[in-house]
Amino acid sequence: MAETNSNKKAQSLETIVTHTGRHPEKHWGYVNTPVYRGSTIVFPTLDSLESTEPRFDYGRTGNPSSAAVEECISELEGAAGTVLAPSGLAAISLALMTVLGSGDDVLITDSAYQPTRRVSDGVLTRMGISVRYFDPRAGASLERLLTDKTRAIFVESPGSLTFEIQDLAAIVALAEARGIAVIVDNSWATPIFHNPLALGADIVVHAGTKMFVGHSDTMFGTASANEKWFRQLKDTHLRLGLCASPDDCFLAARGLRTLALRMREHSARSTELAAWLEGQPGVRRVIHPALPSHPDHALFKRDFRGAGSVFSILLEPKPRAALAAMVDGFELFGMGWSWGGYESLCLPITPGKARSAVAWDEPGPMLRIHTGLEGPDDLKGDLAAALERYRAA
Ligand SMILES: *Cc1c(COP(=O)(O)O)cnc(C)c1O
Repeated sequence: MAETNSNKKAQSLETIVTHTGRHPEKHWGYVNTPVYRGSTIVFPTLDSLESTEPRFDYGRTGNPSSAAVEECISELEGAAGTVLAPSGLAAISLALMTVLGSGDDVLITDSAYQPTRRVSDGVLTRMGISVRYFDPRAGASLERLLTDKTRAIFVESPGSLTFEIQDLAAIVALAEARGIAVIVDNSWATPIFHNPLALGADIVVHAGTKMFVGHSDTMFGTASANEKWFRQLKDTHLRLGLCASPDDCFLAARGLRTLALRMREHSARSTELAAWLEGQPGVRRVIHPALPSHPDHALFKRDFRGAGSVFSILLEPKPRAALAAMVDGFELFGMGWSWGGYESLCLPITPGKARSAVAWDEPGPMLRIHTGLEGPDDLKGDLAAALERYRAA
């Protein structure tokens, strides 16, 4: 059974996630590409050692387990190629280091995942790169911030914690005319619902840890590039010595097989839960791009085919003890930093601390919710009881 065929373009994303990157004919018929654990690969002859044919030659530079994941993600993202990293943050660092050098300037969305800011402020600046942050809602007005040193724009849409959708088309139009690289963190929507490369971005990065792996049991990162940037991305990846463990590649590949199915459920369930929360006493505001109340809902509808699992809510202001009473008594929701698994999470957050371009000063405690795959009514019951504890405290 050949897993690639000539009518690729006609294939649905569901078919791509279930078939692409699998080559049973090369693995004794096994459906899943096995874990190729190894550092040393031996060559039987001098000719084979010195061959320049594409092949696997050393553990760090790839193996069938990593190739399977790369192939699948490249196809999903419509990328020229994909490279793997031990975490999403490593993939983000790689993408930034691929396009930037000493003396360059990078513009990063103010709503970026906080560790993206930390690597930029703490490492890129030491390399002589100027790092500036922009209003995630800037769109075409971002032009005012561009200088002749600006070499990259880093987009995360929607933003971590606060979920602003960025006008990627407007940003790409500015960047393309000036040869500026556009990097997009697409972890929330995944390629099932959003395809930044098709909209003109240059590099897409993922916290594969989240939805690709999908079971909260592995750290993983990916970076995929268009034709213009893939060679440079691959070269930088190789020189930096980044790679993902074959065991983690296996788990990511296995997670990917159900990505389309899981995303459809996460989208429907998170949207349902968010809409329900909008009517609950004690909830001041729900921030979910798929709700008509979201300020960027029109952009969401233009550029996304579905929603991620994660959104935020703001509560009516109350003392910390009320918040503790609320979250300490959860039966189903867990409190944890990550997301993307089958289990629901609800985490108190303080996005205002990391902002520098536009202040985030909404009153009241804020919570980030990852909608897992439990029964929706059970989740509503757990949240209703939690909100009752909050109001009573
Ligand atoms: C978690 C996350 C990352 C980083 O991924 P790790 O695998 O934890 O390093 C990057 N971007 C977003 C949006 C994330 O949520």
